[in-house]
Amino acid sequence: MLIGGYRGLKPSKFTLAKDKNSKKDKLLLDSKNKKRNSKNPKQNDLEIKDPSSPLILVNKEQGLTEGFIPDDLVIPNIPFSFNENLPKKQMKKIAARAIERLFSQAKKDKIDIVGVSAYRSYQRQKDIFAYNAKKDGVTAANKYSAHAGHSEHQTGLAIDVSSPKVNYKLIEEFGGTKEGRWLQKNAPTYGFIIRYPKDKEEITGYQYEPWHLRYVGVEHALAIANKDSTLENYLYS
Ligand SMILES: [Zn+2]
Repeated sequence: MLIGGYRGLKPSKFTLAKDKNSKKDKLLLDSKNKKRNSKNPKQNDLEIKDPSSPLILVNKEQGLTEGFIPDDLVIPNIPFSFNENLPKKQMKKIAARAIERLFSQAKKDKIDIVGVSAYRSYQRQKDIFAYNAKKDGVTAANKYSAHAGHSEHQTGLAIDVSSPKVNYKLIEEFGGTKEGRWLQKNAPTYGFIIRYPKDKEEITGYQYEPWHLRYVGVEHALAIANKDSTLENYLYS
């Protein structure tokens, strides 16, 4: 399902995504999808499908349209791993303010973290997936890279975070560092979840990504973290 509509407009209709996944992936996703959608979502279904809501669900099954661009992107005042003012520094205002508060607490706690990549357009994601698929093959790329329209980075609510200790890389080892552990513990207090936790690949569709933070708001983030859950399970099970 593709949702999103155009900048500044609420989605008026939902259209089916052209499925670019391999047949095998599609089968797996379809069976998961049926199981999940047989239950009513716990949260307001409209919120889950509204790209301007902090509860928007974007995953391999539900994506955003090519035309969707968040209408209030700003650059948060946090350190990044690079200096140029590239589009990938941007976040939706509500998430930008929250990441500033999280980073300010990190500084107080002497935790050295930086932003690496936040907002990403549909087209940019398309290019990235094509690059990864060419480099590693489609099956491998599917495990860590999203198809265009299916990256949370397009919502403006997600940011990848790293630290000098792991050379600003986005690697699993980050989760075991002091900085990674601090993030896992403190991010929910500021409205962020570790969106792709360890051993939840069957549910989220992605391997462990200790660096990928997703803003959902404080109340929801704390509820998800306290249950050691995922956004998918929180919304649907
Ligand atoms: Zn990410």
